[in-house]
Amino acid sequence: MKALVEPYKIKTVESIKLLSYPEREQRLKQAHFNLFNLKSEDVFIDLLTDSGTSAMSDSQWSALMLGDEAYAGAKSYYKLEKIVQEIFGYKHVIPVHQGRAGEHLFFTTVLKKGDYVPSNTHFDTTRANISYVGGIPVDLVIQTKDCEHPFKGNIDLGKLDDLIKKVGKEKIPLGTLTITNNSVGGQPVSMQNIKETKELLSTYGIPLYFDACRFAENAYFIKKREKGYENKTIKEICQELFSYGEGCIMSAKKDGLANMGGFFACNDATLVDKVTHLLVLFEGFRTYGGLAGRDLEAVARGLQEVLDEDYLAFRVNQVKYLGDQLDKLGVPIVKPTGGHAVFVDGGEMLSHIKKENYPAQALTCSLYKEGGVRSVEVGGLMLSRKDKESGKMIFPDADLVRLAIPRRVYTNSHMDYVASVFEEVKKKKGKVKGLKLVYEAPWLRHFTAKLEEV
Ligand SMILES: *Cc1c(COP(=O)(O)O)cnc(C)c1O
Repeated sequence: MKALVEPYKIKTVESIKLLSYPEREQRLKQAHFNLFNLKSEDVFIDLLTDSGTSAMSDSQWSALMLGDEAYAGAKSYYKLEKIVQEIFGYKHVIPVHQGRAGEHLFFTTVLKKGDYVPSNTHFDTTRANISYVGGIPVDLVIQTKDCEHPFKGNIDLGKLDDLIKKVGKEKIPLGTLTITNNSVGGQPVSMQNIKETKELLSTYGIPLYFDACRFAENAYFIKKREKGYENKTIKEICQELFSYGEGCIMSAKKDGLANMGGFFACNDATLVDKVTHLLVLFEGFRTYGGLAGRDLEAVARGLQEVLDEDYLAFRVNQVKYLGDQLDKLGVPIVKPTGGHAVFVDGGEMLSHIKKENYPAQALTCSLYKEGGVRSVEVGGLMLSRKDKESGKMIFPDADLVRLAIPRRVYTNSHMDYVASVFEEVKKKKGKVKGLKLVYEAPWLRHFTAKLEEV
């Protein structure tokens, strides 16, 4: 096989600098052992998120100049509307400044207190926005022992049916599918699962909406792994996929290949009117939704570029390339690797640290200390919650560390470096200390939490 090679060349560079070990130790303490509090200039390789961190293309940069900054009816909006209609097939397109703004407008409009929202797995902002308006987010992802299952992001249809029967269809205004399924490792959802979810929900008259952030990566997995799609284009796969839903929420900071932006799109004119009322109140006028005209241009081009199969092949394989290296080193990772990130089992790697002391968060701190690599915890700190009745903390099954790979930003030698940092951490892992919380916010606490070593 030929070497895995970036399908682009570099036109602009941004320098990065590795601080000394004592400097990194000091920055970590200053950041209260929460890498969200670090300054980015103190980070060498930044794998905190793939959100808004993409490198834009020369085509996108040049499109910025075409941004129409008119308050109402800007040309740039109509370009975005057209491309969304083409790929996603939904009639009404409402720009928003990022995904969670779309979540806020949509869930505020459709949910009543006590309503349930089933999903394969809700992302943390989605869960928070549903809970914020009194809704109950329910995760129904399949449980499989087969570690090479090609579509680990699928929803369990049996459990979905049970939930509807248990709480009643009146209590479920919609179902959602997150593609790819970010919180369980960026794992894809199969076309068959999407189709069957649509059919099941339809029998109860419940609409299906997509959390579409990584739709192109999901489509690429369908093309590679699902029978009948090998000869379809990525665009054709996307068009079929979205035809099974009534609409979607999109963060263009992911597969929009843009640094900011998003949209809500659907076919329901009444719903769009209601969402627009809130849009004008919270985000901005109907044709810009909190974005500059130039942002709309960048998103419109990004959505087209992301459909390029050479790009997607490199993207998905670069993630795998890092995952394979970690696997060879004996670092426990979630397999197979997903579309945008490698997930490391921090709980297993640092098994001497109890769940209550956030082993995955401790691993993120070690990766920074040993090599200036920034990652994010997806475990007890991000996902545990207090049980309302017993008052006890419920911890998630796994304490993961997510190494999210920004799109078109890092080369494979950066990935080699990250693997070498893991090698270093592994040598010293017995000495890594657990952490305890000393400050937490009521919502999305992982962003602002402060911790101390125990
Ligand atoms: C990023 C993300 C969101 C929220 O989008 P933002 O642009 O960060 O507000 C929602 N769902 C999923 C699956 C995401 O990955």
